[in-house]
Amino acid sequence: MKMKNALVTGGAGFIGSHLCDFLLNKGFRVICIDNLITGSMGNIKHIKKNKNFKFVRHDISRHIKISEHLDFVLHFASPASPADYQKIPIQTLKAGSLGTHNTLGLAFAKKAKYVLASTSEVYGDPLVNPQPESYWGNVNPVGVRGCYDEAKRFAEALTTAYRRIHKIDTKIARIFNTYGPRMRKDDGRVVPNFISQALGSKPMTVYGDGRQTRSFCYVDDMVAGIYKLMSSALNEPVNLGNPEEHTILEFAELIKKLTKSKSRITFKKLPLDDPKIRCPDISLAKKALGWEPKTGLEDGLKRTIGYFRDR
Ligand code: UDP
Repeated sequence: MKMKNALVTGGAGFIGSHLCDFLLNKGFRVICIDNLITGSMGNIKHIKKNKNFKFVRHDISRHIKISEHLDFVLHFASPASPADYQKIPIQTLKAGSLGTHNTLGLAFAKKAKYVLASTSEVYGDPLVNPQPESYWGNVNPVGVRGCYDEAKRFAEALTTAYRRIHKIDTKIARIFNTYGPRMRKDDGRVVPNFISQALGSKPMTVYGDGRQTRSFCYVDDMVAGIYKLMSSALNEPVNLGNPEEHTILEFAELIKKLTKSKSRITFKKLPLDDPKIRCPDISLAKKALGWEPKTGLEDGLKRTIGYFRDR
């Protein structure tokens, strides 16, 4: 049987590199494209020599040329940490707009299936909790998160237009907060911040009063969900995430306990437009994909802490 080829943009990033691993294990040939502005070669060093893996350094906001046939195009390239995308808002907008256009064009030319990595940020600072896919969101287009949120909303719209007009088999994963090994220590997100602060006996910086909520999904669960989605017949957007919701203060206390840290918890100013609540309604993923996360928070955090400790 002919080998299945998958192109993963952002394949040297956090979720992208785990996706490359997963697909190689499933017997795919994987072409990974990354411009390494937030991803790193360290994330793919263990597969660089694999004969079924190919790395291409390229900025997906520019035309993409691939000579091989492709069965899947998975568009995972984008800065995803609020600290990152607020530093490079133009690249973030280009990854979501031009990058989505180029990757959809490629999928169309290759008659490949398409998977868009979208985000819970399409719901903005939500007025409905938990968030079902039918909720349209509460996004500030000109706020500090607008560069990411609106790029992803545009990406969803463009993906849907390509499905309607060009009949591409497209999938949209709305990815909620995901954590695990290979997050960048300095990416500014809450998981790497709290773990490195706790391990380094530095104050743990809770923003605002810490009562805002997030729901954290371990990366192995996320990638298993993405694989179920790409193998399914579902074309509508689907939430992927862990529906267990915690306040950020509870989360800081849990990391402090698991690292046995003596760090104190300090409170800093809440960033602008920081969503007050976030929790996925995953009924659709359960029903249509037979998927739900399996890894408990303590378990996943212990593995992530182990990774940061080794560094
Ligand atoms: N946060 C925090 N301390 C930090 C980093 C983040 O309290 O050092 C909070 C942040 O204000 C937000 C939540 O943790 O409410 C998750 O932030 P993150 O940057 O990980 O991503 P987001 O879910 O906001 O996209």
